[in-house]
Amino acid sequence: MNDLGHQKFRAELISGEIVELSKDCACAGHDGPCWINSDEFYRKRNLEILERGVPYLAPMGFAIEEAARLGRKAAEMRSRGIVRLLNDQGEAHAVQNCRETKCE
Ligand SMILES: [Zn+2]
Repeated sequence: MNDLGHQKFRAELISGEIVELSKDCACAGHDGPCWINSDEFYRKRNLEILERGVPYLAPMGFAIEEAARLGRKAAEMRSRGIVRLLNDQGEAHAVQNCRETKCE
């Protein structure tokens, strides 16, 4: 079980409603929606690029990969009408509110 296991995944919708996001796949290794697990995988991988990559080039690689990751994440959220991901404590997940970033 990875470190996202046994968490509740909740989100705020455009309507303001808070909903629980259920598991949407048959993977054995994680709870919650597959796209959130996948995003977490790439977030950690990108941090490894930043921390272990070639000096001077690593930040550029990190920025390129993070832009791609966040673009995918924003698209996944938009397609579900999600404006904010919430963790167990109801605090904002580490993602920008789509309305704040004016990506629409
Ligand atoms: Zn999965």
